[in-house]
Amino acid sequence: MTTSIDALPVRDELRGKSPYGAPQLDVPVRLNTNENPYPLPEPLVESIAARVREAARDLNRYPDRDAVELRTRLAAYLTETSGYPVGVGEVWAANGSNEVIQQLLQTFGGPGRTALGFEPSYSMHALIARGTGTGWISGPREADFSIGVAAAERAIAEHRPDVVFVTTPNNPTGNAVPADTVRALYDAAQAAKPSMVIVDEAYVEFSHGDSLLPLLDGRPHLVVSRTMSKAFGAAGLRLGYLAAHPAVVDAVQLVRLPYHLSAVTQATALAALDHTDLLLKYVEQLKAERDRLVAELRTLGYEVTASDANFVQFGRFPDAHTAWQRILDRGVLVRDNGVPGWLRVTAGTPAENDAFLDAVRDKQLLTGDTPTSSPKEQSA
Ligand code: PMP
Repeated sequence: MTTSIDALPVRDELRGKSPYGAPQLDVPVRLNTNENPYPLPEPLVESIAARVREAARDLNRYPDRDAVELRTRLAAYLTETSGYPVGVGEVWAANGSNEVIQQLLQTFGGPGRTALGFEPSYSMHALIARGTGTGWISGPREADFSIGVAAAERAIAEHRPDVVFVTTPNNPTGNAVPADTVRALYDAAQAAKPSMVIVDEAYVEFSHGDSLLPLLDGRPHLVVSRTMSKAFGAAGLRLGYLAAHPAVVDAVQLVRLPYHLSAVTQATALAALDHTDLLLKYVEQLKAERDRLVAELRTLGYEVTASDANFVQFGRFPDAHTAWQRILDRGVLVRDNGVPGWLRVTAGTPAENDAFLDAVRDKQLLTGDTPTSSPKEQSA
């Protein structure tokens, strides 16, 4: 007997919704999911194989539930790169920063509680809120996509959310949020509730500025979340982590599944951290390519949002989806995040970026002269 999803007794708030997901289309140039375009270097592949072979012998046992060795290494990486001392007790790791965020919302959100994010931003924040039964509040941004402190403070005071998300550099717009803004939002959130403030730094290694980790000092309700999916070029590994007051790490233990991080994941991540220098060596090149994309897009007459990430938001199109389709017709997949008039392109290899720039040389993209009848891409 066939049964559709509508016939199942799914939760009311999930009815009629679509799952998150960028199209995984088989096209020559894929610049739509903010991955690092370079495959892992061979010495690292060898180290991963060696570490995983060792871990394989013990797969009859559950892994280290607290991932202590891995968290120690992540703490050392954060300390080395930010200059702000982070200890193992202040770090927690999970399967991608999406799972970190899910655990945070399971801990601090949930039914009867709310989370607020300044949109447009990373759409999974709202979706994970929905999945955890947390109400979602869309906070305001200015016309240039920055977070206006006064308007943001008003939104926090009015809604008194339990969780506030600040994504910096922001996805999909690319702009970073100044430390002063985060300080002000934290103070507003404490005055209103007090609530947890989650600073999502998934792209921070690509930033012109510094990590906001030092803001953790004296702010026990602040969480900084990070990932190995972007700058580390290890999206397939699924390793995200957070830094926060040790009490936050203790609190997250209440919702995490036992043994959530497999021994294979821990071994692979440790091998990757043995080769941080190799993994991060493309970051400078990707930043230079990002800056080239910004400059060339502007020369071509596009508006571009200043980017501190490994992607660039560009426009403005009379119909972004039509432009998306026409760029795709030229073999280049970019992202339509549903921000009216704007598209997002990930910085790829120099050759991929050249192919993209060739595709957008067509001035009709900006005038929207040739309509298409393709179905609308999901605006995730
Ligand atoms: N935060 C932001 C802002 C992101 O853009 C992404 C991935 N696109 C994530 C978190 C999740 O990354 P992951 O689960 O791969 O760590």
